[in-house]
Amino acid sequence: EADEAQGQAHEPAVTADGVRVRVAANITSARDAIGAGTTGAEGSGLVRTEIVFGAESAAPSLGRQAAEFLAIASGLQWQQITIRTWDVGGDKPLAFLPGPDEANPMLGVRGLRLMRQVPDLFDDQLRAICGAAEQTPVRVMFPMVTTRDEVDWALERLAAVRAELGADPIPVGIMVEVPAAAIRIAELARGLDFVSIGTNDLTQYTLAADRGNDGVSQLADGLDPAVLQLIRHVADHVPDGVAVAVCGDLASRVEAVSLLLGLGVHELSAVGPVVPGVKQAVRHTSLAAARALAEQALAAPSAAAVRELLRPAR
Ligand code: PEP
Ligand code: MG
Repeated sequence: EADEAQGQAHEPAVTADGVRVRVAANITSARDAIGAGTTGAEGSGLVRTEIVFGAESAAPSLGRQAAEFLAIASGLQWQQITIRTWDVGGDKPLAFLPGPDEANPMLGVRGLRLMRQVPDLFDDQLRAICGAAEQTPVRVMFPMVTTRDEVDWALERLAAVRAELGADPIPVGIMVEVPAAAIRIAELARGLDFVSIGTNDLTQYTLAADRGNDGVSQLADGLDPAVLQLIRHVADHVPDGVAVAVCGDLASRVEAVSLLLGLGVHELSAVGPVVPGVKQAVRHTSLAAARALAEQALAAPSAAAVRELLRPAR
């Protein structure tokens, strides 16, 4: 079984009933991208820029950022990469961008919220992303989005940067990792190309359980029916033509692949080494059966009951 997955690692993932599912990798460095390239990742569904440049003491120049993005794309054989703008704050400090001292940083000025306070830094990253996009397929993604106003702000900055550079349009998406964004997805995803569900933060915020606190790790399970209901809500209410991806850790759990497809997810982005196993799980899925499984999971009494449902599923 594992051998079979490895043997087909570089083949596309198609369900038993003929639906092609993109399986990309989450990336934190150019080296990581080379590794993911060898395990058959179809580009990247999440480049965590705050980790790629996490060791820098000063903000990386536009040129450095663009060069790093191209190195990542090269490691993935120039397949499409999804670059997430600085997701700083909360549990993710950046030396050159100290956030405010907050009593509740996870509920504080993080992600896009922080970018609104340092728009020049944001614009510079957008310039680097647009620059890389001239040479390789790139999507841009905004983290920690909560309101439509934030989407509009980010789109305006991107439009201004593109106008300044005379750059072509690039596909744009948002992370769905705040329950409010999942609930109001029809409004927030209007005019976008894709959304990507960040199950790590979505789980933490849905269950009010700090993702880094061992004391509540039992509660913070992405398979909780409350999280699954939000994923289903996103898949059901996203505007027509907007692709739904999952790039949170749930997409790296091979046993959850059928369930995610049954909930209506179109694309997955997993940690590199798991990509062959995720592709194999897609091949073993028939969408009709996956939808039935999703209905059962949505109606399950607990995360433990959902885990039990997934156990026999190969
Ligand atoms: C997530 O929250 O699920 C996610 C993918 O982003 P990060 O883990 O980097 O916060
Ligand atoms: Mg997140």
